[in-house]
Amino acid sequence: MKFVSTRGRAPALGFDDVLLEGLARDGGLYVPDGLPKLGADVRGSYVDVAAAVTGIERGVLEAAYATFDDPEVCPVRALDEGLWVQELWHGPTLAFKDVALQLVGRLMDAELAKRGERRTIVVATSGDTGSAAIAACVGRANLDIVVLHPAGRVSDVQRRQMTTVDAPNVRNLAVKGTFDDCQDLVKAMFADPGFRDELQLGAMNSINWGRVIAQIPYYVTGQLAVGRPCTFSVPSGNFGNALAGWYARRMGVPIERLIIGSNVNDILTRWIETGSLVAGEVVPTWSPSMDIQVSSNLERLLFELVDRDGDRTAELMVRFRELGAVEAPRDPAIAGARVNDDETIAIIRDVYERDGYLVDPHTAVGIGAARALRRDGERVVCLSTAHPAKFPDAVRKAIGEAPPVPERLAAVLDGEERYEVVGNDVEAVKRFIRTAFRS
Ligand SMILES: *Cc1c(COP(=O)(O)O)cnc(C)c1O
Repeated sequence: MKFVSTRGRAPALGFDDVLLEGLARDGGLYVPDGLPKLGADVRGSYVDVAAAVTGIERGVLEAAYATFDDPEVCPVRALDEGLWVQELWHGPTLAFKDVALQLVGRLMDAELAKRGERRTIVVATSGDTGSAAIAACVGRANLDIVVLHPAGRVSDVQRRQMTTVDAPNVRNLAVKGTFDDCQDLVKAMFADPGFRDELQLGAMNSINWGRVIAQIPYYVTGQLAVGRPCTFSVPSGNFGNALAGWYARRMGVPIERLIIGSNVNDILTRWIETGSLVAGEVVPTWSPSMDIQVSSNLERLLFELVDRDGDRTAELMVRFRELGAVEAPRDPAIAGARVNDDETIAIIRDVYERDGYLVDPHTAVGIGAARALRRDGERVVCLSTAHPAKFPDAVRKAIGEAPPVPERLAAVLDGEERYEVVGNDVEAVKRFIRTAFRS
């Protein structure tokens, strides 16, 4: 299978190149030039399904999902009438990003071994991505990783999940600045060809196609668990998760529609309601992994909705970047609802009191959106994207006590932290990275 850029002006590449390359040279994102239709015979264990959907070797899939603490990998539980929850957080860092990154780390490492190369992965994080990317690199022979987080601006749990990892190929930097500053530093390093080549920089961000494809199988197993055509409710930020659901539907999985749950950073919901894509100011919320105003993966959906016209997609994206607003096509199979912070807390409380089930604030946003939009008789699977113990403050506010801490997390919370603090200065960060892995 070949991959083409959403902006139509970069060379077509194979899967392995797309995995290592990330962004296309024309600024677009890579998408497959065709998607297989899935037969009704796709079923079995999570790995069986993932092998059929992705075409990735079983051995790699087995190794990736052996790190999960539930044999079903992404188990489904019934909630109230017509609602289910699918738990995507049984991986090493207790958030859904492990589902993709445990696989992507192994795939990248294997491809680099084949080529006799190494990469230094550089990631900026406001929370969950950093720890999941670190967990994806630990133990991989051909990957080093440096994670930049904004000093004092990530939660205690999130920082400790990154900084207590004791591995020779992992380094953490606390940048005196915001998440946007961290992201700008990473962009500046990638934009410097000399440095990029010298350090063999690599990315693992959510625009990597490997992450999207790795998220399609749980839509298949989730629908199979419900047994009939169903709708998925997806708490969304960068739109990577929901995009995988959209591709699953296109591949023939009986998905009626997708419900996008937003917090007050609701660019996606406003686009669904009005057809205008208008960036706003990012407001901090109880669901920080969705505090995003530019959903990078939306470009892939827009490309499909303009019938794969690269020039049209490029024009939409450039206009959005320049003006902060653009009229964009929509898909009637995608609905959206916004859930504010007070509602998020009320939903955590209500689900706990009614069902005895504790959810994290991101999952609560998805459940709130599902409850707001569910039609009579509709079966809705709410994707649960993080374990509640990752967000103890929100849970305490909702139910008056902190969530029980799973063993995996307890070990992390007690460990010794290792990180260096640097100024918001690209030369200082480069100096750090140059010497970080020399022993
Ligand atoms: C990253 C993340 C999301 C948002 O997923 P996208 O693919 O960016 O839409 C939601 N919840 C949690 C807990 C996350 O870590």
